Amino acid sequence: MAQVRKQPLRKCAGCGLMKEKKELVRIVKTEAGTVRIDQTGRLNGRGVYLCRDAGCLQKARKSRALERSLKCAVPPDVYDEIGRQMDGG
Ligand SMILES: [Zn+2]
Repeated sequence: MAQVRKQPLRKCAGCGLMKEKKELVRIVKTEAGTVRIDQTGRLNGRGVYLCRDAGCLQKARKSRALERSLKCAVPPDVYDEIGRQMDGG
């Protein structure tokens, strides 16, 4: 019998839906103040989540949701990097 443990839900900054963490990309502002993608889910710092969906990335970019959540500027190359984590990547 497989034990199904409910994963904690996180909110996508693009579409606003709650999803399981594994369905989301985590973006973190590290203690050093740099914004980067959290590949491992273990980075310390303030995090924000996005669906693995280019549409959600676009929405978040337009509405500056990441900037508002992280309270700092998100460089364009970080957005590009996030884009590479999305569907098809
Ligand atoms: Zn989304």
